[in-house]
Amino acid sequence: MNLPKCCKCNHEFSWGSVFRISLKFSQEIKCPKCGTKLYLTMKSRQKMSLTTSMPLVISLVLQAFGLPFKFTMLIFLLFLVLAMIVVPFVYSFVDKEEPLW
Ligand SMILES: [Zn+2]
Repeated sequence: MNLPKCCKCNHEFSWGSVFRISLKFSQEIKCPKCGTKLYLTMKSRQKMSLTTSMPLVISLVLQAFGLPFKFTMLIFLLFLVLAMIVVPFVYSFVDKEEPLW
């Protein structure tokens, strides 16, 4: 797993800055080094939605197995934190906007 890089100048984004981008859900990102407008790739957007839906899927499966709600909640929160940590690593940037689908 690697943190995303600027496709123009190869500037590597820090985990924190990518995390902030993911919180804002902004489509447009600017490279702090060369100022190139960057966009999330379609693939990374798909990976992101997959990663963030994982906690919900896992806790629903556990709930289906009859585990106590408190326990499922705990697992859900644990995986949610894990997903948030992982999300910046699934990002990759391009300098052209891609169609959503
Ligand atoms: Zn750059």
